[in-house]
Formats: sequence, C-alpha cells, structure tokens
Amino acid sequence: MMRLIPLIFLLRATAFAERPPNIIMIFTDDQGYADVGCFGAENIKTPRLDAMAAEGLRLTSFYSASPICSPSRAALMTGCYPPRVGMGLYPSSSQKRPELTAQVLFPYHTVGLNRDEVTMAEVLKARGYATACIGKWHLGHQPEFLPTEQGFDSYLGIPYSNDMVPTPLLRDKETIEEPVDQDPLTERYTAAAIEFIESQKDAPFFLYLAHAMPHVPLHVSDRFRDKSAGGFYGDVIEMLDWSTGEILDTIKRLGIEQDTLVVFTSDNGPWLSQGEHGGHAKPLRAGKGTTYEGGMREPCIAWWPGHIPAGTATDAVAGTIDLLPTFAALAGATLPDRTLDGRDLSNLLLHPDAAETPHEAYYYFKGLGLEAVRSGDWKLVFKRQQWEEYPYRRNLPPEPDAWVETALYDLSADIGEATDVSAAHPEVVARLEAMAQGMREDLGDSRTETVCANCRPLGGTTPE
Ligand code: MG
Repeated sequence: MMRLIPLIFLLRATAFAERPPNIIMIFTDDQGYADVGCFGAENIKTPRLDAMAAEGLRLTSFYSASPICSPSRAALMTGCYPPRVGMGLYPSSSQKRPELTAQVLFPYHTVGLNRDEVTMAEVLKARGYATACIGKWHLGHQPEFLPTEQGFDSYLGIPYSNDMVPTPLLRDKETIEEPVDQDPLTERYTAAAIEFIESQKDAPFFLYLAHAMPHVPLHVSDRFRDKSAGGFYGDVIEMLDWSTGEILDTIKRLGIEQDTLVVFTSDNGPWLSQGEHGGHAKPLRAGKGTTYEGGMREPCIAWWPGHIPAGTATDAVAGTIDLLPTFAALAGATLPDRTLDGRDLSNLLLHPDAAETPHEAYYYFKGLGLEAVRSGDWKLVFKRQQWEEYPYRRNLPPEPDAWVETALYDLSADIGEATDVSAAHPEVVARLEAMAQGMREDLGDSRTETVCANCRPLGGTTPE
C-alpha cells in the first residue's frame, strides 16, 4: 500500500502536467463554400483566412449537419445529428396546430436544446476550461436554454437570428441593448473575444465565436463599407476576414499559438435567393435550405501551429458533429455518457496526409427527413419535396425535375451534382440505400414516415 501512493501521485501529476490546448471555434452564419479566397472566391478578398489556411489545414469535404441554423448549431454543440437531440423541427406557433412545422427556432418559441444534453462547452468546462460564448446562439432564448445554462461561463450576443424581432443583445441573460445596433456588431464581438483571450491566456479556455454575419440583414462598420469588389456582401465577408486576423494576431502576440487550436467554418450554405446579399457556393449545387452540397458543405480551416501541419488540405469527409469528440480527445476530456454521431478527427487534423475519414457514411438531414447519404465519393439523394414547397426558392430558377427524383452522383467527377448515374451503378445505389435504411431505423425519417427509435426529447416539451 505504501508503495502505491507515490505511483498514483505520479500518474495524476503526469496527466495534469500536460496543458490541454485552448480551443477557439469561429462559426459564421450562411457563409458559402466559395466565400473564402482559398475555397474559390472570385471577387471577395480574404487574405487573413487564406494565410490561416497556409499555416494550417483546409478541409474541403467538411459538412454542417443541417442546411439551416438551429439544427446545425445543435449538432455542433452536441456531436449528434439534429434529430437525435430533438432539434430537427419545432412546434408551430398556433396552439391549435401543435405539429412540428417550424424549421428553426423563432422568438415565439418556448422550447430549446434540452438541458440534459451535454454540450461541447460542458465537456470542456468539466476538464477545467474557462468557457465563453459570443454571438448567435439559436438553441433556445428562454432563460433556461441560454448559453450560461449550457456550459458557458459568460455570454454576449443576439440569442437567435439577426433578422428576428425583437433583436436584443444579451450579456449572460440580461438584455443590454434592444434593438442592437448591428453595424458595429462584428467589431464588438471581436473586441469581446480578444478581451476574453487576453484574460484567460494562462489557463485552458474555450471560445465559441458565432458571428451574426453574413446572415441578412447585412451590416458592416463604416470603415469596411464600399471597399470590396464583391459588393456589400463582400464588405461583410472581408470584415469577418479582418476579425479572424485580429484573433490570430492576438494569439501570436500572447505567444500562445502552439497552445491554441482555431477552427473556422459556417453553419450552412449561402442564402442564394437573397441575390447580391447572399453568398456563393459554386461549383457546388444550390445553397441554404437544401441538402445539395451547396447547402451543407462548408469552407473549413483548422489552425494549430506546431501541431497541425502547415499548408495542408484534406478531402476526407468530416463535419461539425465531429468537433465535440475531437475537442474532447485533444483536451483529455470525458465524452458524454450517451450515443454520439460524431467521430474523433484528431488523427486527421494532426496527420492529414495519412489519416482517412472516420465515417463509412455521412447523412444529410433536413428537418426530420433523411434526404441523402454520402459514402466515399458516392452520394445518393432521395426523392424529396416538390420545388413549389421549397421555402428558399424565391428568385431562383426552378429545378422541378431534379427535386423529385432519387439520384446517384459521383462527387469525384461531378461535384456540382449534375448527372444522375444511378442506372449505371445499381450495386452502389443498393449499398447506400441499405446504409440509409439503417439510419432511418435509428433516427427516423419523415420522408418515408419512419418513426425515430433513438431520438432524445427537445427541451421544454417534457417535464424536467
Ligand atoms: Mg445560418
């Protein structure tokens, strides 16, 4: 017994001697795949994001878990496909029509991400991290669902989309400005982020910086106005680029770059029907609100000098659902005691040339419907809603045929999902259909009226 005590002490000392990395998650809103220079932007200049990629890793098959806001953010926070955490669809506003019809949370809602779910902030907080949420939350704006109830020590931001009314700015749970002046908002969030980083630089911290931009209505500070060759939308992106540069400069100035992982990505694809106020996804097909690649494949950059090799890229399939298990692994934190859909990407981040995707298949959910599955370079999309029912179709050229047929695309040759090759590859269709059926039996599928077997409840719908 006497000999065991020093050994236990040594083990504990070793485990705590290694400093877990700081983690900064930068999440923009409705930024398209082609709205970053190194992802193919034409008129918009993003020198700071391009430099971040040159010093880090570019992920070119990185997916959000939904083509719209609330479900996408639920997946990021929990490491699960949205239906698993009850965050696929939301009740309608009318008491007479309590069925699930709303695609995101609106100001009238009294529901939110269930407090019983374990967020990435809670995972890291339990490991001793200081945690801050700055920006858009959109996982419930009632006091019991706000970030400070879900693992964050502090919160500053608009609790939902910046086009919703009223549009308050909250500090923790208190409204400090309503309606918030949105022109300087990106600058204000950036200053708050830098203040947090500076104040926490000596111990591990987790910062979730979820910008309101470039979701409409677009806003920029005056000094960024009329500067971009990409128009007003370009001004907004170039301001986000500036903001990211300010964050990276702060980390370098403090000398903590080897201790700080920064991940940059967006919650869903560009809102194309906003015309010049929407972003760009080319060569991907379609945008926000669709499960075509343009709706869910996001620009993603991971940066951690001395750990993630500089100037690398990977086309391995990965997504926001993977970030909770990845951060947990890098931090030495304990995973939530429940089923997750995400996988640990730490090997892919640290050895991008050698590592492969941890996903045999990736699933594209919209609402409570399973609309597509990708395995390798094959993507099978299922017959979905009529074009006339697509809520984001305004101002877009109609695509009636493609929207109602099941199709197989080879993304290695056809990243724009233009040519259905299902007739030539029935065995691939059968294999992906079998995978999809397995997922339907797990998480349900409104398209085929399959009931979910393993979904956990939306917060506020059951007694707690
Ligand atoms: Mg969004």
